[in-house]
Amino acid sequence: MIDMLVRNADWLITMDPERRMVRDGAMAVDGGEIKAVGTTADIEAAGYREAARTIDGRGRLITPGFIDNHQHLAPFFVRGLGDDVPLKVFLHDRCYPMEAGVTDEEAYLAAMCALLESVRHGTTTLCDPGSQNPENSALAVDEVGCRAVLSRSLTDMAGGRVMPGTFDSTTDEAIASGLDFVESHAGAAGGRVRPWFSLRTERMVSDRLCVAVREMAAEHGTGIVSHMISNRDSVEHHQRVFDGERPIARYERNGVLGPNVQLVHCHFLTEEECDLLAERDVKVSMCPTASAVFGWGGLQRATHLKLLERGVTVGVGTDIGACSHTTDILRIAQYFRVYRDIFEDASLMPAETILEHLTIDGARSVLWDDQIGSLEAGKRADFLLFDLDRPEWVPLHNPLSNLGHGVSGDSIDTVVIDGNVIVEAGEFVNLDARAIMARGREAATAAAERTGLAHFATPRWPVV
Ligand SMILES: [Zn+2]
Repeated sequence: MIDMLVRNADWLITMDPERRMVRDGAMAVDGGEIKAVGTTADIEAAGYREAARTIDGRGRLITPGFIDNHQHLAPFFVRGLGDDVPLKVFLHDRCYPMEAGVTDEEAYLAAMCALLESVRHGTTTLCDPGSQNPENSALAVDEVGCRAVLSRSLTDMAGGRVMPGTFDSTTDEAIASGLDFVESHAGAAGGRVRPWFSLRTERMVSDRLCVAVREMAAEHGTGIVSHMISNRDSVEHHQRVFDGERPIARYERNGVLGPNVQLVHCHFLTEEECDLLAERDVKVSMCPTASAVFGWGGLQRATHLKLLERGVTVGVGTDIGACSHTTDILRIAQYFRVYRDIFEDASLMPAETILEHLTIDGARSVLWDDQIGSLEAGKRADFLLFDLDRPEWVPLHNPLSNLGHGVSGDSIDTVVIDGNVIVEAGEFVNLDARAIMARGREAATAAAERTGLAHFATPRWPVV
């Protein structure tokens, strides 16, 4: 008898190469792997009639689990302490002190709280671009039961600023700590954690570190993630520090750009740089709410659309919980519709593209599409059941319309990852979420006080 049978789903959105949408959908799952996908009649005809657990799909719509291509777990407790300031102030006065200042326990709880929100809203895999505390994030990912690409944040050029903690490391220290994390976390959490190398941000990494990371990633068969020219300042800063050279040119000169590289933001690329990323098959992660919150002008530049025209694989990310204020990746992806307003064109970013970003393209962007990103036989069983018996699904003429433009992750009833039911009826099955949130609130307050950030929490309106 197999482990799991899902039957009679009103809709099953496969995201397979033909983008089949199955009515009366069903799936057979065993050992965490999808054995068959089709109509309930197809699955029965294939001999899958009984399972240890059967999920009734009536009144449900099934999609693959969502992939959040960019979320920082460790500084999650800075949410609410960094509103209404430009990126430079946010990073240096709020985010970096929090990220470097949390204890191991606080970093673990920050990751747990971020994951509670993310997974509850449909994220089954996320890519954390690196922190000072990735070991704690790995513990949280293991405990929650999701998947993640994790890395140690590597920097060796503080750029003339005094930087907290290990942000201010030497090149040799950065190389050793990055390698140590990758070697110690290969195959972690039963393979649900994949360690990568992180060049934290283009203007804080030397040529020597770039070359070393390229070589280590090749040797270990991992990806490389790097923030890349999120705003105008970051380009100018890079050119000041590196003799006028632009960051993409420097990464290219150091042989970094390749199919195992994911660059985040990329709003200030030139046309030629867009061509080069396409040629090198570099993946890109776009975080629309980060640009909107910090006022980068990234959405009005719409480099995203230029990359899509060139066939570049693009995924969508939350960035920090303090930028987006939500980790509901479906809501964040729907934000791309702002392009329609900017360019006076109602055809931009249709629901289908939004869903591709969240699933199969997101999976390609984290180099995991051989196992996740679509519901097909042979892939791992990561999927979501949306509850159609909610007002946001009425009327239901075309489910892609509701899903791509209207509903939020609140609509998700059940989350299955690697064949395990993680969330059911909107609640975590094997975790005491309320107890974790209570510990998280206390830890966030303690961390804000110790890192000197607590006064930023004062509301502008009188508290009586
Ligand atoms: Zn980021």
